[in-house]
Amino acid sequence: MKTLRKKSVDTPIIAVTGGKGGTGKSTIAVNLAAGLSSSGLKVMLVDADVDGPSCASLLGMKLGSGETVNTFLPIIDQEKCVRCRKCVESCSEHALIGLVGQVPKLFEELCSGCRACQIVCDHGAIREGGKKVGTIYISDFSGIRVVVGELKPGEPRSPVMARLTILRAIDELQRGTYDVVVIDTAPGVHNTVAQPLWVSDFALAVTEPTPLGAHDLRFILELTRELDLPVGVILNKADVPGGLRGDIIKTSREFGTDVIAEIPMDTELLRSYISGRPLVEMSRDSPAARSLLSIVSRVKEILDKWKGHPSSINSGVKNP
Ligand code: SF4
Ligand code: SF4
Repeated sequence: MKTLRKKSVDTPIIAVTGGKGGTGKSTIAVNLAAGLSSSGLKVMLVDADVDGPSCASLLGMKLGSGETVNTFLPIIDQEKCVRCRKCVESCSEHALIGLVGQVPKLFEELCSGCRACQIVCDHGAIREGGKKVGTIYISDFSGIRVVVGELKPGEPRSPVMARLTILRAIDELQRGTYDVVVIDTAPGVHNTVAQPLWVSDFALAVTEPTPLGAHDLRFILELTRELDLPVGVILNKADVPGGLRGDIIKTSREFGTDVIAEIPMDTELLRSYISGRPLVEMSRDSPAARSLLSIVSRVKEILDKWKGHPSSINSGVKNP
């Protein structure tokens, strides 16, 4: 699977990510987008958690009709194929197999649609084929441009869909003027997560003070380090009794960063989910909303540093 190249747009991109699912990553992304928008910034929110996008429902918005996303699939012309195996050797996904003297066989679920096989075939034996991988929804909601990528049910190629969602968002970005992009990534450290991180300027890694949260935080911080991406940690459910807050802080510092916000457990969050309204709009004085608003302020500080000095963004998140 090829990764995206670094973006060619100037708008700062913030990825909200996390090593495990269920940490409240999407809630933080939505509230960050809503808070930044309320403060007067032009915001794009991208839901790249394509296996289960939830930003729209957290915003209480209905997705309209979307754009069907198709990817290339090679169709091998048996008559033209000279069985040279060049396409097999060019396929980094191992989606094509074929012994010498055989027409290669395609394993559709492994194919990323990269076209390398078609490019290397000197005999014009690979024809154009296509397959739907998902749908992209783009709409405006409360002043926020919302881009949602949704993988087709049963389709295994979520990294491909994540990549195409980001590419579509970047395309949209070039058609308008935005102050900031917030991306809600998939959980984990696989390629579906790496795709949006690759185009981001910094990441907020969301975790919780549980053994699994502490364990998975290490993986996401290793990934951001690998990608040379500045990162700050957000500790959700920070006040859970018996929680491993100390471990989270220790791990964050080990990776040269820090916990930049702690969000307490708050029943208002549940009310916010049910009503489909971001907490920072619904109940600004609740304990969790105050913490979410502190993230908004912190991100705004980082964006202010960004203006005219993109390289200074590192100092906004990483520890000195
Ligand atoms: S590169 Fe073209 S000719 Fe060679 S095996 Fe593949 S499809 Fe056939
Ligand atoms: S398009 Fe061709 S080279 Fe690329 S992953 Fe699919 S089969 Fe492999």
